Amino acid sequence: MDPPPTAQVPEVGIVVPVYRNAETLQELCCRLRHVLESQQLPFEIIFVDDACPAGSLAILEQLALGDPRVAALALERNVGQHRAVLAGLSLVQGKWVVVMDADLQDPPEAIPDLLTKMQGGYAAVFAGRCGRYESFFRLLTSRLFKGLLHLLCGVPADAGLFVAMNRQMVERLLAFDEPRPFVVAMIGCTGLPLASIPVLRSQRLSGHSAYTLWKRFMTGCLAISWVLTWKWRRNRQVAKQHVSQAPVRAYIGARFVSILDGKRSREATPSTRL
Ligand code: UDP
Ligand code: MG
Repeated sequence: MDPPPTAQVPEVGIVVPVYRNAETLQELCCRLRHVLESQQLPFEIIFVDDACPAGSLAILEQLALGDPRVAALALERNVGQHRAVLAGLSLVQGKWVVVMDADLQDPPEAIPDLLTKMQGGYAAVFAGRCGRYESFFRLLTSRLFKGLLHLLCGVPADAGLFVAMNRQMVERLLAFDEPRPFVVAMIGCTGLPLASIPVLRSQRLSGHSAYTLWKRFMTGCLAISWVLTWKWRRNRQVAKQHVSQAPVRAYIGARFVSILDGKRSREATPSTRL
């Protein structure tokens, strides 16, 4: 019989927001443990129960009681996927952190490839979504939205919220302190180096998406308006810094010119003698 798992300081942390995924939680946890154990790195899995009405918390509590490397964080009210992710990020330890969905559309078996790609010095590596994982209409609208996000903030055009990141990225995301966060756009706006590798995304096997057509549309609009506002605020800040740096720049410029002048005049001396 295998010895009982012990909690060590984790090197890899997994954050999973959960809303109505009771059917997939046991299998997800089992597959995650299998994949992470094969990496031989200490890990922790944090499930964030986003005030699910459907009994997911009882399953998460059982999973957490059976393994010290698994934790369940229960939110008091439903705050949505992105805020649930940030709540998990505020607790997760480890040098490397992976965020993924709870409904098994994101295959845990892709995590080793994401972590390997992270060795290339990226702050975040996305599991680039590919395959026919949802209806043609949803795929099309999602590609348009992602393409726009790519143009606006440089996040890879196939990025979803199955992503590995380093500690620096986690800290930067937590520092945003946004009331209506959209994590993929926030990752793009950090300006840190990003990459994606193609990962076949599965279709949903049970239940249905928490994102109705209307919710998707509203989430998309909010994300785009957040990026535009953020860029506008950043540009204003940069402009203010330029104004306050103006005297310093003039001073540096003046000194620089006088050194050049001095150099030129020193160089000029012999030729004027000729
Ligand atoms: N989710 C959440 N809070 C919500 C809605 C969704 O934590 O209010 C989680 C959900 O449990 C899943 C992830 O966000 O882990 C993505 O949700 P879903 O699978 O419904 O979205 P889709 O895959 O259709 O984009
Ligand atoms: Mg899903």
